Amino acid sequence: MPASRSPDAGTLYIVATPIGNLGDISQRAIEVLDRVDCIAAEDTRHTQRLLQALGLHKPLLALHEHNERHKHEQVLERLAGGESIALVSDAGTPLISDPGFILVRAAREAGLPVVPMPGPCAIVTALSAAGLPTDRFTFEGFLPTKRKARHDALMALRSEPRTMVFYEAPHRIRETVDTLVEVMGGERPLVLARELTKAFETYYSGSAGQVVEQLAQDDYAEKGEYVVMLAGAPEQSDSEARAVDTDRLLATLLKEVPVKVAARLAAEITGEARNALYQRALELK
Ligand code: SAM
Repeated sequence: MPASRSPDAGTLYIVATPIGNLGDISQRAIEVLDRVDCIAAEDTRHTQRLLQALGLHKPLLALHEHNERHKHEQVLERLAGGESIALVSDAGTPLISDPGFILVRAAREAGLPVVPMPGPCAIVTALSAAGLPTDRFTFEGFLPTKRKARHDALMALRSEPRTMVFYEAPHRIRETVDTLVEVMGGERPLVLARELTKAFETYYSGSAGQVVEQLAQDDYAEKGEYVVMLAGAPEQSDSEARAVDTDRLLATLLKEVPVKVAARLAAEITGEARNALYQRALELK
């Protein structure tokens, strides 16, 4: 317990740490890490190395995805008792594909102050230099690791108009980009940011098909961490959108009934000409 109640008493600080380059830690982050009573860290050994590099000494407690469900209560008790605690993850901003959500939600529900210390985050860092539209984007975290689930997750994003951002592990990057091409086609603009802020920072960019080639030619492609950024689906005119829907309808019907019946049912549902739908059904068959 701290000797006296400081202005920090009971405060939970959410502190962003570097994603590769130590120089990216903010002055405020260093001051807070130096000032708090304790640091809750995703991996205490990892954070110990950061503190050593900053010349700081501080008690650490482990708070990671496997213990957060029960450990957060202990952290809350300490905050309620007047301690100040900083939450850090291994890299970047806590809670962004990292632990901390359960703790932050509970601290807010308990009426305790939660104060963010902004800093590095791979999503924003990658987007800022990618050259893809950033006025609106959607962060999708890590795609599922199982092949079918990954394929289905991407299928669900096929018509997403905003730039899509994913995190990906190096050993899955080639497979993920191949699946992107399979689902979205080879023409979509795609940018991969590898090893951001580190010595071998690399951007791969072009059409998705070109990026597949770039990865194939790079012996180091499976080393390092990746942010994957895919341009959104081009805006469709009303008639194009209808055509896509009609194709989907016909394809579904064709699985169950003959071409002629499919065309008649599709005509009844959409109000489009039966002959045109019959021709289209023959093409799709
Ligand atoms: N909390 C972190 C943040 O704010 O970005 C993200 C943590 S998440 C567990 C780790 C993933 O972030 C990596 O697999 C990679 O996709 C991405 N990432 C983190 N650091 C990166 C870097 N230096 N370059 C590229 N991607 C990085």
